[in-house]
Amino acid sequence: MPDQDPQLSTKAQKLYFEDIKQQQLEEALQESERRFRATFEQAAVGIAHVSIDGHWLLVNKKLCHIIGYTHEELLARTFQDITHPDDLEADLAFVKRLLANELQTYSMEKRYFRKNGTVVWINLTVSLVRETTGMPLYFISVVEDISERKRVEEERAQLLAHEVETRTTLQALNRLQDSFIAIISHEFRTTLTGILGFSGLLYEQTFDPEEVKEFAADIRADAQRLNRMIDDVLDLERMKSGQMTLTPGLVDLNRTIHTSVDHMRPTTPLHTFRLELSESLPLISADNDKLLQVLANLLSNAIKYSPLGGEIAVCSFLEGDFVDVCICDQGIGMPAEALELIFTPYSRIGVEETRHIKGTGLGLSIVRQIIQMHHGQIWATSIHAHGSQFHFILPITQSQRRIASTEY
Ligand code: ADP
Repeated sequence: MPDQDPQLSTKAQKLYFEDIKQQQLEEALQESERRFRATFEQAAVGIAHVSIDGHWLLVNKKLCHIIGYTHEELLARTFQDITHPDDLEADLAFVKRLLANELQTYSMEKRYFRKNGTVVWINLTVSLVRETTGMPLYFISVVEDISERKRVEEERAQLLAHEVETRTTLQALNRLQDSFIAIISHEFRTTLTGILGFSGLLYEQTFDPEEVKEFAADIRADAQRLNRMIDDVLDLERMKSGQMTLTPGLVDLNRTIHTSVDHMRPTTPLHTFRLELSESLPLISADNDKLLQVLANLLSNAIKYSPLGGEIAVCSFLEGDFVDVCICDQGIGMPAEALELIFTPYSRIGVEETRHIKGTGLGLSIVRQIIQMHHGQIWATSIHAHGSQFHFILPITQSQRRIASTEY
């Protein structure tokens, strides 16, 4: 420094040091700015400044990478533009609370739409920067890509749901197997006991011809029952393995109803049958043997479950594109909660009135399967202690409608 007036020299020295101090300050500031930039740009999470109305003001590389937009493209958009509509309401509600000073910061998991239209799950943490006066300036958003975690969570949830479904199916199968063993052992055994008892008597003792005939009739009835039960069990197995097939042909449903009722009439002296059959019923494409099986089942139930007798009405009518058949009895009926359950295998209503009535609980599940294979539907209505109605509908096609109109 030059050798001058000491006072001047002190002032110059002061200025000189202030200058250096200023320079150091600026350098420190620049260094700090550089560091902030580097931190901002190289952060492993997305960071952004967002205006109060939602425009991106400043975004780092990582955020651009997560959302798939360039820096410029993102600055031309708002966060609302790229937020999944299902998450927007929750996000805006948080923003409102932040502006109202109810929250200092909020965090949420939400979805953004990437530029290519795919969805990315992110964890968002937002805080608000205010002026010293308290006026809101902008938001600072920190965005983490959590799509991998979400994918794993989703996979785990799916696996769990699948496991629960499998366990439920297995439990249902176990229950079915238990019912199968209980019913088969009970029903088969009682029927066999009858056969063994009557045939034993015939073997050990001498009876007159009338009595022999009576015992033979009892043995025959039990053997027929056993045969039906075996058929039902086999049908159920075929149904479960998808091996039940139809042999369709053109069927006059009224004739099938007549055949079934004629077959049933002699088996029950306690019941009368009333037929109300529509004369303009078209022919339908169906498996006649299977429909005979359906009607035999519904009619024998109507007989079985009206043990005091009464009228059994069978109606047929045309209902739009369907033929509708209804079988009504005046028997014991069913409680409302049983009306759907009775169509599942082995379900029997355990009320006092039915305890002595023999059955396996298989008939209606097979009936429903046959009707569904014909693209029809079956359902029951009932007034407990007053009777039941079983309805089934079967579709008719336009071509069958034409055939029918020339036939009837
Ligand atoms: P099963 O008669 O061999 O028990 P089904 O599958 O044919 O088997 O019937 C299931 C159950 O539905 C019966 O156990 C009975 O409780 C009830 N059910 C069926 N038809 C009638 C009916 N017409 N009236 C009252 N209950 C009935």
